[in-house]
Amino acid sequence: MSEIVLRVEKLTKRYGSLVAVNNLSMEVREGEVFGFLGPNGAGKTTSISMMCGLLQPDSGRVLVHGAPIAGGSADVRARVGVCPQEVTLWGKLTCIEQLVFIGQMYGVAGRIARERGERLLEELDLIEKRNKQAHTLSGGMKRRLNLAMALVHNPDIVVLDEAEAGLDPQSRVRVREYIQSLARSKTVILTTHNMDEAERIADRVAIIDHGRLLVVDTPEVLKNSIGQGDVVEIVLGEGIERTRCSASLQERLGEQTTVTAANGTLTIHARDAVNLLPAIIEELNRAGLKPAGVHLRESTLEDVFIHLTGRRLRE
Ligand code: ATP
Repeated sequence: MSEIVLRVEKLTKRYGSLVAVNNLSMEVREGEVFGFLGPNGAGKTTSISMMCGLLQPDSGRVLVHGAPIAGGSADVRARVGVCPQEVTLWGKLTCIEQLVFIGQMYGVAGRIARERGERLLEELDLIEKRNKQAHTLSGGMKRRLNLAMALVHNPDIVVLDEAEAGLDPQSRVRVREYIQSLARSKTVILTTHNMDEAERIADRVAIIDHGRLLVVDTPEVLKNSIGQGDVVEIVLGEGIERTRCSASLQERLGEQTTVTAANGTLTIHARDAVNLLPAIIEELNRAGLKPAGVHLRESTLEDVFIHLTGRRLRE
């Protein structure tokens, strides 16, 4: 078993009467990509801000390699690199100047910061922009430069808040590959509300909602926890009383299958869904329901979220 590099113990953060993070405990292991998945406002940014020592918790603590980050030494904080959701750059500095400046702020010698900066610009496809001022970069380039800035002091834990947000599909693939290349030599913690990103990139995923940790495990285990195999989605449209049919479908299809009704859609998890389709259609006919659409697909982390909360990730 890999070493625990970051331990979160009963973290709570309130904003007035709102509990943004509620008694969060978890561990992150050396070399893994750990994904924080949850809808907007779930408490992801607040959680990781406390993990990096940028925000004081109301209670609980974060240990980095066994040492508390809050009030801890600069050495402890320097082990964590953060790429925030909001791009933070000095518009008048060139790309390489930003990197050297940030490196020096963390105590890295100028020559080493420059060498690392050049390498990071190369790896993130920004080398042609090395001497351009940051304000002249496109939005996607600024985000990639921000990522380089989180890495220039060579932290062993990298925290990325919505790393893929605002990127075009090509840059998204590039950043995703880059994050995967960082893993193993570094531990990566990332937040996302994109289940596809979490599923593709993360070794383990924590699903968080209303500030609470709902589950944490590998994407495979989480998906299997709601029934292995396929998902049939039956879109019934507005105003139709979905529950009318879900109980009879559940009874007909048996215990190996789960039927849930949410957002105008009946969702059926089953191992061998294709063979169940005739029975499903028959039950819908019996209930007098005419579906607007029937879709068959493999289960995803979104299904896990729906199973746990009765809601979709994006509502
Ligand atoms: P998103 O995916 O939209 O970035 P998130 O999961 O990162 O969301 P947080 O930014 O951690 O969510 O916010 C959690 C809750 O705390 C939200 O309801 C938010 O409005 C609230 N919140 C966050 N920061 C503050 C603040 N400085 N003052 C008051 N409320 C805040």
